[in-house]
Amino acid sequence: MGTVSENLLSIRKQIQVACEKSGRNAQSVRLVAVSKTKPAALVLSALAGGQTLFGENRVQEARDKIPLVQAGAAGSEIQWHLIGPLQRNKVKVAVKLFSMVHSVDSVSLAQELSNRASLIRPLPILIQVNVGGELQKNGLPPGGTVEAIRQMASFEGVKIKGLMTVPPITSDPQGARPYFKELAALAETIKELHIDGVEMAELSMGMSHDYSVAVEEGATLVRVGSALFGSRD
Ligand SMILES: *Cc1c(COP(=O)(O)O)cnc(C)c1O
Repeated sequence: MGTVSENLLSIRKQIQVACEKSGRNAQSVRLVAVSKTKPAALVLSALAGGQTLFGENRVQEARDKIPLVQAGAAGSEIQWHLIGPLQRNKVKVAVKLFSMVHSVDSVSLAQELSNRASLIRPLPILIQVNVGGELQKNGLPPGGTVEAIRQMASFEGVKIKGLMTVPPITSDPQGARPYFKELAALAETIKELHIDGVEMAELSMGMSHDYSVAVEEGATLVRVGSALFGSRD
């Protein structure tokens, strides 16, 4: 484990290598630095290394941390994405803190986000899909995703930008590849339906141990925490 700046450089390099391997433009992949459980000071050191996009998985933690980061980084354009489960009673706060929500896994949550966000601006969202079909994981079943998206498409306060997944944990990162392929294929299927107001420009997939594989399979947003900030307790 190096310093945050060293880790940033090596992750960016790895993303570039994965892009070259798969004939993609490195500009098409954005790194979401997952700062959950980590203090504002570490976020600031990533910011000093040029990282401006951060991911948090809990609204309460983000609400406490974001002002601290802002206080230490006057004038910086920092973006925060919500990547974890969202409870209904946190939606109102979430639409103010985050510029994208990756973890929308029900029509009712999309409706609630839309109601709250429409007072501010349309909120970009990703639809979380449980490609591995694991009982303990969040996300819509792949077979129910199209129907859910058709319903969400009419909500004025949210803009559907793509799909997100957290695949089953495998010791070998290659084990995640079929799940990434499945998410990319599902996005392609949805794109071809040309549902009004629905874009499939973003694929949020890949974490510390498998982001290179995810990039090879088309990820546009990789969510990397421990490889950047160190392991969490
Ligand atoms: C914590 C978290 C990550 C980052 O995990 P690492 O393995 O530390 O990179 C990515 N996505 C989600 C949804 C998370 O909760």
